Amino acid sequence: MRHRRPWIESEPEHCGANEYVAQPVTEGTIHCPHCGVETPDIMPTNACVRFWECPACRALVKPKPGDCCVFCSYGTMPCPPRQR
Ligand SMILES: [Zn+2]
Repeated sequence: MRHRRPWIESEPEHCGANEYVAQPVTEGTIHCPHCGVETPDIMPTNACVRFWECPACRALVKPKPGDCCVFCSYGTMPCPPRQR
């Protein structure tokens, strides 16, 4: 015989599992081609980063030919528009 416990009659709905919507990764790491320092940076989800200044050596990093942004060229992952 199943004992009924009224205080847990309804399932809790505050676990938050359904609130997570799959989003492209917006955090990447740029590997500077000039000094080799890796810098974590935020990738904008609605634009491409065409110019990026390395905080370590102050070099202006540009994407390689054919790449849309510096994250595609030197980052650890492609930029958000390409992850879709
Ligand atoms: Zn650098």
